[in-house]
Amino acid sequence: MPFTQLTITFLGTGTSAGIPMIGCSCAVCTSTNPKDKRLRSSILVQSPTTAVIVDTTPDFRYQMLRIHNSKLDAVLFTHPHKDHIAGLDDIRAYNFFQKKPMDVYANALTAEALKREFAYVFADKKYPGIPQINLHTIDETAFEIGDVQVQPFIVWHHKMPVFGFKFGKFTYITDANKIEDPVKEKIKPSDVIVLNALRNEQHISHFTLSEAIDLVQELKIPNAYFTHISHQLGKHDDVEKKLPAGIHLAYDGLTLNI
Ligand SMILES: [Zn+2]
Ligand SMILES: [Zn+2]
Ligand SMILES: [Zn+2]
Repeated sequence: MPFTQLTITFLGTGTSAGIPMIGCSCAVCTSTNPKDKRLRSSILVQSPTTAVIVDTTPDFRYQMLRIHNSKLDAVLFTHPHKDHIAGLDDIRAYNFFQKKPMDVYANALTAEALKREFAYVFADKKYPGIPQINLHTIDETAFEIGDVQVQPFIVWHHKMPVFGFKFGKFTYITDANKIEDPVKEKIKPSDVIVLNALRNEQHISHFTLSEAIDLVQELKIPNAYFTHISHQLGKHDDVEKKLPAGIHLAYDGLTLNI
């Protein structure tokens, strides 16, 4: 398949609580810099003909309104944590205007969670007006959605397998703190990688900032953007200026052309 031009939009770059966090009066949560306002982590991947979202966060509806999006062909899920699936009900608007079910791709663990947490969507007797979904349970086999090539791979979020996705030369990994060597080899040829970098202190299931930096340097990927950021990491501009060349914090609304 020929090379496809992709535009990546960061719809959200915050950890599960978002920034600001409810009730928090820290310097980050009260910052007036728009780059310190982080909805829950998700990206939109757009080719000239196809639009694919990775995860439907609790902020999904507002994220799509905020960028005036009117076309969505598929949802890819990384894992079943609530901050990555909670917004799924709002794909109803796309069902309504596109007049078809939404194609949803997930691993077996996430598919099982979707059936449990959105039981009404999968019920035999369906209430009118609920989301219409074509659920595809996938493994690490590459596939295509329109002209977008998708290579899923497994990374580890403590003990939970999480899908990372490689789209051509662009790799997206959220919610991980361990990547096995064969997967590292698979993602090394990327031009751009997105990794989670929660905060400076150790965490049981997320890379810290220094772990994420070390991994980018180990993989020798020239451009990196960090996401799934906690208010504990500090203000965007303060952290950004300390990062090595080629490494940046992502922020909501950032777009990349790959
Ligand atoms: Zn998360
Ligand atoms: Zn705070
Ligand atoms: Zn998670």
